Order: sequence, then structure tokens, then C-alpha cells
Amino acid sequence: MHELSLCRSIYGIAERAAAGRAVTQILLDVGQLRQVVPETLVYCWGVVTEESALEGSQLRVTSIPAVIACADCGANTTLQGVPMLLCGRCGGGSVSVTSGEEFLVRSIDVKD
Ligand SMILES: [Zn+2]
Repeated sequence: MHELSLCRSIYGIAERAAAGRAVTQILLDVGQLRQVVPETLVYCWGVVTEESALEGSQLRVTSIPAVIACADCGANTTLQGVPMLLCGRCGGGSVSVTSGEEFLVRSIDVKD
């Protein structure tokens, strides 16, 4: 379960950004190719922040769909479920991932 270590990284980022202020909410973008379960991440956040400076803060996870671009026909294909790295239009394999690999703290809300 790598969600726990991910939460520890987020904690470090949020703690530095907050600089002693109370954090209310953290918005996180996670690409679907990251193999992260958002519910597990939120659960782990509760564990990591328990009895810490960030206790009570909310972690809100936005799943970013995985999209691949085809070098042969130019089509963009949004991957559903299990990633199949083939173009949805022509079936070609000359594709590159254009989104889905994000792991980004988008914003950290603090109390004034
Ligand atoms: Zn194609």
C-alpha cells in the first residue's frame, strides 16, 4: 500500500506551505495511471495527520483520466478501466501519454 508513503510526502509539502497556520483543505490531482485508490488515500491521510499539526484537514482527490495521443492518426483516446495503450481510432501502438500520470498538490487552504 503505497498510499501511506504518498500521504507522508503530501504531509511534508503541506506542513511547509502552511508554516504553522491551520490547514483546512488540500486539493490533490491524481492521474489514473498512478494506480492510486482515492478512497485509500483519503483514509491514509486521516491516519498520517492524526494527532499532528494537520489533524482535521481534508484531503480532496480529483482523478485525472488517462489520455493517450496517437502518432499515426492524431486521435486522442481516453482510457477506461484497465489501461490499454492502443489508439482508440486506428488501433495503432505509436501512442504517447498526454495525461493520467499526474500527482500534484493543486492547492493548500489555510485558516487566516
Ligand atoms: Zn491512431
